[in-house]
Amino acid sequence: MKNDVITDAKQVSYCGLYCAACGKFQNGKCPGCLENEKATWCKIRTCCQTNDYRSCADCTQFSDAMDCKKFNNLISKVFSVVFRSDRAACLAKIKEVGYVDYAAYMAEKKLVAIKK
Ligand code: SF4
Ligand code: SF4
Repeated sequence: MKNDVITDAKQVSYCGLYCAACGKFQNGKCPGCLENEKATWCKIRTCCQTNDYRSCADCTQFSDAMDCKKFNNLISKVFSVVFRSDRAACLAKIKEVGYVDYAAYMAEKKLVAIKK
């Protein structure tokens, strides 16, 4: 059983995950995507920062991020199968309810990603 998950819109990652529900965030090993300056390898993070998007949900280049090769890359495809995560659904939820309510929804469900 996971610990209680805080509601904090700042813990929505650039790719739409909810970092506050992740064990690494909870045990202090990761500050979450926004604060994780070490994640220079991540093209999604860099892209959102360069374009001043809060996440891929704000992208004006792709209405469906699954069409973006940076968002829908090989590693993310493997992860989505292994963890049954539906990142497109995460972005759709952010677009539907906004960051604050998305964080509250994910905290209540204790989810890093919406499941397939
Ligand atoms: S994949 Fe990139 S954008 Fe997504 S949580 Fe990790 S560092 Fe952040
Ligand atoms: S969907 Fe692709 S182009 Fe749009 S913000 Fe995300 S990584 Fe950048």
